[in-house]
Amino acid sequence: MIEISFELNGQKVDPKTMGGGLQKAMLTTIREALGERVGQVECEHHHRQPHILCKGPSVVELSMEVCGCCDQIIDAVETRLQ
Ligand SMILES: [Zn+2]
Repeated sequence: MIEISFELNGQKVDPKTMGGGLQKAMLTTIREALGERVGQVECEHHHRQPHILCKGPSVVELSMEVCGCCDQIIDAVETRLQ
């Protein structure tokens, strides 16, 4: 499973450890949905998995940044996310 992390208002949050409530539920859902789409992606050249950072002012205004070892894997992830 690739790494998916979240940043709200400049602060890293982890749906596993954050307090309960709607935000936790929403982030958990996003993480599962992303994991289903790109969870098995691995760079065929470097055998590394990409990392997705979702950040924004709130859980309903998140934008995604894909980090990876090279452009090919970033493209592969972005294609799957479309
Ligand atoms: Zn690579």
